[in-house]
Amino acid sequence: ARQFTRPLNDLANQWNTLLSAIAGAERVFEVLDEEVETHDEKDAVAVKNIEGAVAFQNVSFAYDADAGNTLEGISFAAQPGEMIALVGPTGAGKTTLIQLLSRFYDAAGGRVTVDGRDITGISRESLRSHMSFVLQDSFLFEGTIRDNIRYGRLDATDEEVEAAAKLANAHSFIMRMNDGYDKRLQNGGSGISQGQKQLLAIARAILANPAILVLDEATSSIDTVTELKIQEGLQRLMQGRTSFVIAHRLNTIRQADKILVLKDGRLLEQGSHEELLSRNGFYSELYHSQLKRAVI
Ligand code: ADP
Repeated sequence: ARQFTRPLNDLANQWNTLLSAIAGAERVFEVLDEEVETHDEKDAVAVKNIEGAVAFQNVSFAYDADAGNTLEGISFAAQPGEMIALVGPTGAGKTTLIQLLSRFYDAAGGRVTVDGRDITGISRESLRSHMSFVLQDSFLFEGTIRDNIRYGRLDATDEEVEAAAKLANAHSFIMRMNDGYDKRLQNGGSGISQGQKQLLAIARAILANPAILVLDEATSSIDTVTELKIQEGLQRLMQGRTSFVIAHRLNTIRQADKILVLKDGRLLEQGSHEELLSRNGFYSELYHSQLKRAVI
């Protein structure tokens, strides 16, 4: 597994730390440590408020021009507050699509817009300040639980941190630990479970209050009680935000306002669960072969 590639000591610098956080979530964002960051255009602006409308218009992208397009002709629109599930086999391009939305790479053809504005005109820092990531292996740093949650919004009060933890269903497990919110997490959170890490990540994201969310649903098994808490916490987190979920569970996928079905870099189908089933296409095939067993 890849380790963080950037120093984490400058916590005031949200960006370096977030990049490390994302790089640490190697399954999803393993390309980041290759120093391929896009650069802001000179006229890129900071955007204060975002509603959360997201659109891809005939987007194409290649990591390696010689190897052909990784994404080709991707078009879809998400209204503010909608939940979009990304579905498709490994290597289909789900992660790449998220990378374009968050400007870790820029589209080679077509446009990605947020609230109708081409995102290449929005500074990366500003764009990402409106996004939160809850990944399978969310990033925790060495420090107290309180500080780890507060990382979502550095000027949050203790009361706000606790309120976010309550909404995320993290409060009760935190209170059961010695030192509660003052418990220090060592080594990226060894000593707490995978599920508890996710609850902290949800609390952090609730505190950050972003317009756009990216969730990478856990594939590893988490005990049923914690899983229910996570689901409930995620429901509260997603409320009123545009959410992109790299989904592995049928229940999640069914709830989505729109499912994007990707295969080999193309958007084969899009629509609700019912719409896609009635088409008898690739989604229906996936559903009957794999989704029922909740593995994609
Ligand atoms: P998914 O998330 O659906 O599993 P990805 O977006 O990770 O798919 O990958 C899409 C394709 O792009 C795959 O063929 C993958 O091997 C390739 N790919 C991903 N990241 C890179 C990279 N940094 N450089 C070259 N190819 C990449």
